Amino acid sequence: MKNIFLSICLLALSCACTQVAPQKSKEKKPVNVIFMIGDGMGLAQVSSAFYFKDGSVNFKRFSEIGLINTSTAVEKITDSAAAGTAFSCGERTRKKMIGMSVDTISMPNITDTLTSLNYKTGIVVTSSVTDATPSAFYGHVPSRYQYEKLAEQLTNSNIDFIAGGGLNCFVNRNDGVNQLQKMEEAGFAVDTVSLESFDCNTDKKYAFILAEDNMPKMPEGRGDYLPTATQMSIEYLSKNKDGFFLMVEGSQIDWAGHRNNAEHLITEVIDFDDAVGKALDFAEKDGNTLVIVTADHETAGFALSGDKYEDISFALTNHTASMVPFFAYGPGAENFTGIFDNKDVYKKILKVIQ
Ligand code: MG
Ligand code: ZN
Repeated sequence: MKNIFLSICLLALSCACTQVAPQKSKEKKPVNVIFMIGDGMGLAQVSSAFYFKDGSVNFKRFSEIGLINTSTAVEKITDSAAAGTAFSCGERTRKKMIGMSVDTISMPNITDTLTSLNYKTGIVVTSSVTDATPSAFYGHVPSRYQYEKLAEQLTNSNIDFIAGGGLNCFVNRNDGVNQLQKMEEAGFAVDTVSLESFDCNTDKKYAFILAEDNMPKMPEGRGDYLPTATQMSIEYLSKNKDGFFLMVEGSQIDWAGHRNNAEHLITEVIDFDDAVGKALDFAEKDGNTLVIVTADHETAGFALSGDKYEDISFALTNHTASMVPFFAYGPGAENFTGIFDNKDVYKKILKVIQ
């Protein structure tokens, strides 16, 4: 009798265990990936937000931190084209190449790969949409300066939401083609004035091409364009339950470095940090989104050598080969710690979502 009672107890216990165990053992995978790139943003550039931003810094919210080596296949010091291609295609190439190997062979990029998995994709930048970093996520050309060709490739790409400058590459072209009209024919709702026409309609694709060339600089009044466009693109892309991939770039951190302009640089880093905050706010609520933030390379050997903008120093006016920080938050973030190469980001993303 005692044995029967014990058996029943054990049976009840084992039933209870089998109900709980499977959920606990299942490793959580992110559905969505938000990849944010501060162009030219080394550790000193990131640090500047901690010293000069009023209010809390969003970089502080990341749980997992690493370092990446930014070199190309053949050069220690990269440019944004080779670095963007390494991120987007998972292979290192040489400078100036967009979505092509060292042998000038087109390589599949991450937005194409994820579109084949039913993802929606978006790109939000403060440069022209045809600049090197964004174009590495949709284009394939041997020279980053083939802007008209890149505008065509963007039109015919899998990108669902695009925001940035670059109107001249669409309407003021050597071949006379009205590429904006072609974008409308390809299903884009095109706006060249402001973000205000956005109505979050998943039957449309969106193209906000809001400046003739690049978006204005922060010190010249760009306002909250980058965090706002980041939030809008997330609102739109997240309606797709199969997942989304969004690339957001703080494009002008690099340009301020090239010009050794501390005020421009620091205001761009702070603006980028605000956009990072929008991504993290969504990821915290959503629970299925991986947010990764890094740089394509460091620019200008920037140094926080004083308390004021005027005291800051730069070692040079070009890129450096310094490793750059890598921040990750959300399911799968633990895969992005330690020291790794720029080209490994692609494989890590595909590994954590599948
Ligand atoms: Mg760039
Ligand atoms: Zn640069």
